[in-house]
Amino acid sequence: MNPSEILQEVAGQVAECEKCALHFSRKRAVPGEGPVNSEIMFIGEGPGFYENEQGRPFVGQAGKLLEDLLAAIHLKRENVFITNVVKCRPPGNRDPLPEELGACTEYLDRQIEAINPRIVVTLGRYSMAKFLPNAKISDVHGQAAWVRGRLVVPMYHPAAALHQPSLKPALEKDFMRLPEYIKQARASQQAAQAPEKKDEPEKPPEKPNKDEPTQLSLF
Ligand code: URA
Ligand code: SF4
Repeated sequence: MNPSEILQEVAGQVAECEKCALHFSRKRAVPGEGPVNSEIMFIGEGPGFYENEQGRPFVGQAGKLLEDLLAAIHLKRENVFITNVVKCRPPGNRDPLPEELGACTEYLDRQIEAINPRIVVTLGRYSMAKFLPNAKISDVHGQAAWVRGRLVVPMYHPAAALHQPSLKPALEKDFMRLPEYIKQARASQQAAQAPEKKDEPEKPPEKPNKDEPTQLSLF
């Protein structure tokens, strides 16, 4: 199966999935959307009211803020892949439970593998925990780290910034760093792919491949 067939297969399975209790209350499952060759993937928490109605991610107030933040760095939502750690709405927008996250993670893993994004932006604590299990969002938001070969940038959830306006400037500032992270991720991939020069001593690859996250500092 090619990557776009895998995405389609995942979307089809999610639509009929009964692996966790969230399927009882969902109206429409929300697999996520965006180009299969997206360089950046945004991962939120789970569908809310409007997402559950429409079957699309980030179409409510938080989605409007996400679109504004993307526009500020000259990105359009059509050009990035947007999804969530759970694909069905938790009743009343409660936090997803560990067993729900565990049941759903297979779908997200297959989406990540198919899209193979250079950069993953996690929105909120639950998607951050998938990549940086011990991190505290108030400490690490906006700081990129290499995790399993991808540059992971944890950010506050747009909905959190709407509920708690004091978080909004941090979210905006973190977004403004994304273009630089994109450049860094592209450069390190090119360095990793560059043919070796024979008369130079071997250099370690610039893109760490370890499972441990590696902090990057830009400033
Ligand atoms: N919040 C999320 O985490 N995901 C959505 O799709 C919408 C709101
Ligand atoms: Fe299946 Fe995920 Fe929906 Fe649970 S949240 S029913 S695991 S698609």
